[in-house]
Amino acid sequence: MFETRITDTVQGIVKDYIDKGDTVIDATIGNGNDTAFLAENVGDNGKVIGFDVQQLAIRTTKEKLNERNLLNRVTLIEDSHENVKNYVDSPIKVAMFNLGYLPKGDKKIITKPESTIKAINDILELLKSNGVVSIISYYGHEGGLLEKNKVCEYLGALSNKKFDVISIAYENRKMNAPIIYLIRKK
Ligand code: SAM
Repeated sequence: MFETRITDTVQGIVKDYIDKGDTVIDATIGNGNDTAFLAENVGDNGKVIGFDVQQLAIRTTKEKLNERNLLNRVTLIEDSHENVKNYVDSPIKVAMFNLGYLPKGDKKIITKPESTIKAINDILELLKSNGVVSIISYYGHEGGLLEKNKVCEYLGALSNKKFDVISIAYENRKMNAPIIYLIRKK
């Protein structure tokens, strides 16, 4: 269940919580790898709602989904994930966040603590029982450590009556190796 690539590890965990027909969220579309993964797993009657602030991410992901015949299950929204409640009001089963910047894109466009936390908070309200939110925090870039610390502080204060929250960190990688946070609603 755990792999060399951190994104494969997270997908392996999250997969167990997705049923065909579920509605799920990709909060940081980027190059669309998680969007495609989610779309494959929700099946024909499921729905993926994805957010990114960059048109490039939306475009790249649209092409990727089109090639795989998955576009009909996905809504791509060019807006900040902090506005999730403007677009989603139905219960969701899974949400995935990959914090940081778009690989091979503009390294100055990064996720930020306030909007990330607002998005997590709003998504937790929409989350079904036994639903899961995954967060990969890449924090080697400027501003990344501040975001990781704020997110960690927010997650640490979540009620343990309502949520289980765990983290998974690499022990044998270079400093600032990304860290996984997982939140399950009880
Ligand atoms: N999951 C992606 C993939 O599979 O390729 C990688 C995501 S990348 C690490 C982070 C993405 O978050 C970037 O594409 C960036 O544009 C996006 N982003 C930054 N701020 C955002 C915000 N407020 N709302 C939604 N997306 C945001």
